[in-house]
Amino acid sequence: MKKEIDFTDCPVCGCNPVEIDTLEARDGYFWDGDIVTCPECGHKGNFNCDGVSEGYVEWDEEEEIDSFDPDLDTDWTDFDE
Ligand SMILES: [Zn+2]
Repeated sequence: MKKEIDFTDCPVCGCNPVEIDTLEARDGYFWDGDIVTCPECGHKGNFNCDGVSEGYVEWDEEEEIDSFDPDLDTDWTDFDE
């Protein structure tokens, strides 16, 4: 089922709340590996919980299109992306 969570913001567009797709929400708890999706831009992440903390969302890496300056004379083509 899809639920809304407000303890994390989308790192791309800042949307809050975001959606989490979970098997079963129990009193606001979610499951390790539940997929989090930003309803605005579609950015995805995973819910992580270690049984100790309340859990957190690990968002996917942002695609940093502007992270490489083409004027810089560096060999960035070997980046494994
Ligand atoms: Zn977003």
